[in-house]
Amino acid sequence: MADAAETFAFQAEINQLLSLIINTFYSNKEIFLRELISNSSDALDKIRFESLTDKTKLDAQPELFIRIVPDKANKTLSIIDSGIGMTKADLVNNLGTIARSGTKEFMEALQAGADVSMIGQFGVGFYSAYLVAEKVVVTTKHNDDEQYIWESQAGGSFTVRRDVNGEPLGRGTKMTLFLKEDQLEYLEERRIKDLVKKHSEFISYPIYLWTEKTTEKEISDDEDDEPKKEEEGAVEEVDEEKETKSKKKIKEVSHEWQLINKQKPIWLRKPEEITKEEYAAFYKSLTNDWEEHLAVKHFSIEGQLEFKAILFVPKRAPFDLFDTRKKMNNIKLYVRRVFIMDNCEELIPEYLGFVKGVVDSDDLPLNISREMLQQNKILKVIRKNLVKKCIEMFSEIAENKEDYNKFYEAFSKNLKLGIHEDSQNRTKLADLLRYHSTKSGDELTSLKDYVTRMKEGQKDIYYITGESKKAVENSPFLERLKKKGYEVLFMVDAIDEYAVGQLKEYDGKKLVSATKEGLKLEDETEEEKNKKEEKKKSFENLCKTIKDILGDKVEKVVVSDRIVDSPCCLVTGEYGWSANMERIMKAQALRDNSMGSYMSSKKTMEINPDNGIMEELRKRAEADKNDKSVKDLVMLLFETALLTSGFSLDEPNTFASRIHRMLKLGLSIDEEEAAEDDTDMPALEEDGAEESKMEEVD
Ligand code: ADP
Repeated sequence: MADAAETFAFQAEINQLLSLIINTFYSNKEIFLRELISNSSDALDKIRFESLTDKTKLDAQPELFIRIVPDKANKTLSIIDSGIGMTKADLVNNLGTIARSGTKEFMEALQAGADVSMIGQFGVGFYSAYLVAEKVVVTTKHNDDEQYIWESQAGGSFTVRRDVNGEPLGRGTKMTLFLKEDQLEYLEERRIKDLVKKHSEFISYPIYLWTEKTTEKEISDDEDDEPKKEEEGAVEEVDEEKETKSKKKIKEVSHEWQLINKQKPIWLRKPEEITKEEYAAFYKSLTNDWEEHLAVKHFSIEGQLEFKAILFVPKRAPFDLFDTRKKMNNIKLYVRRVFIMDNCEELIPEYLGFVKGVVDSDDLPLNISREMLQQNKILKVIRKNLVKKCIEMFSEIAENKEDYNKFYEAFSKNLKLGIHEDSQNRTKLADLLRYHSTKSGDELTSLKDYVTRMKEGQKDIYYITGESKKAVENSPFLERLKKKGYEVLFMVDAIDEYAVGQLKEYDGKKLVSATKEGLKLEDETEEEKNKKEEKKKSFENLCKTIKDILGDKVEKVVVSDRIVDSPCCLVTGEYGWSANMERIMKAQALRDNSMGSYMSSKKTMEINPDNGIMEELRKRAEADKNDKSVKDLVMLLFETALLTSGFSLDEPNTFASRIHRMLKLGLSIDEEEAAEDDTDMPALEEDGAEESKMEEVD
């Protein structure tokens, strides 16, 4: 008997997911059990946490457990927990109408060939029940609501109704799976035990299996009439011909709850006694990851403060690593073996959010609340130690090149974020950075290795920031540095701009941007220096002329020290944004516009006195300050320099028209004829003198 059932439609993506789960062949169906046990364990964690501050929350069912009941007669498998349960609203929302962000991602992953066992990572593990079940019935009781039944055979909808006459759960959830005909293996004790051992061994609540026990018993004939039935036991009579008439052997079937997981937490054991496989199994059960960890650090801190911890680095970044809506923190906090909470923000800084593991403190009070955690001194010490150990662990990974490449590809952004945010550990984190450089070829180089390769007399570490390796490796900014044999690091991650802005130096050597002002390269000889000075002087007037022409577009115009081949480049102030940073900031939709005006666009044009174009310009400017060709060429040079220096053009059309005009000149197309197309465009030169002059630009 029950109230009338309400029918709900599955949210569209969930519905798609269900069809995919039901209609696609997956060999790895067994993972459903791990997913459901993991959900139960989470639900138990939640009620235990609530009970720490309010004991009465446990009243309806004081014991915390997970029970598994295979029922061969009805072909059902039930997983029962005394966790927090779900209210009616929870049932409707969590099991069908509100899609998680991971729903779509998981389907995409599946279609891209991912294994169905990854489901837990995407936060949709419950639906894996449909790998083996044709129908699922969820009975659940939350402290704040009545007992409800959710039921669905997939197919687009589910029902929810009040459970009026069902057996009361007290508190918790019972998931009953009506197994498909070809999935009855999951009713076998052996299979279930093996699965729990394989996937759920480290669940910290007792997992009981409802097991059948057969015992042989001798009974005399007269007793035979009324066999003693054990609770729920069935009795089978056995024909035993050898038996005497007065005595008979019968097989008696009884049931009992058998504990099938060890719950001694692995972190209490000695590291040297734990095998790699055990760590891997623990890691998988902790994280739902389908792959093993990349690295592990198991340690205990003793002294004034005591705690034990196991930290893991995964092999890959999760799909939502930098999803800002979701604060990531993957360290579970325990106090004297009791689970307190996930996502304790105070335990580890954000940049280490990808590190997974457990911390078990002996010193924190059991009834600690989130609010208390914020000012807690013990927690601050724990945090400091965790960061230290994480960095140690990363350095250990770095000892193996292949592993480190994997690690770096997945988490370099986190390290850089750490450099930006964690001033205390900046130096140590800097050791973990790797970059391509003008000398590293396909490999990445560390700053440490860079330093060993520094040329005699080289004082600084040079780097260039930009959009990609391709975009920076032939940049005009590198010309002089390359010529001198100085190595330049390519920083082509958006976050590099931020990180290097904080790092400033490494091993006592200044990090100097090749694209900013203040790049001073020593000259070899006094003679050379003088020669240069002289040349600089001879270009002073041209600098002034160019500045007049460009006006506010540039801050100043100077003779360059850093370019060898290109005619000119645009550098930015030492403390303002680089071209790359300007690009990054422009791409940020929500940035504060006022910032842009004073941080960006303080550009200095550097001209190359050894370049033929500049020399010709100088001559012309000297001959006639108002030569129109000078003006046009300067504009073109400026715009081209914007591009080669990594800026974007504000008016690409004007630039294109200038180029087109030049092409026409080059191709000897009469300007008059073509004039209609680009009447507004600035003329390159007065008619007549064009051709001979433009050739020099080529
Ligand atoms: P996830 O567990 O990763 O959040 P699931 O699809 O497995 O995703 O479960 C969806 C939600 O349903 C859970 O977040 C939880 O709120 C609820 N739920 C599932 N199983 C249980 C359970 N045994 N007890 C209480 N709530 C549960």
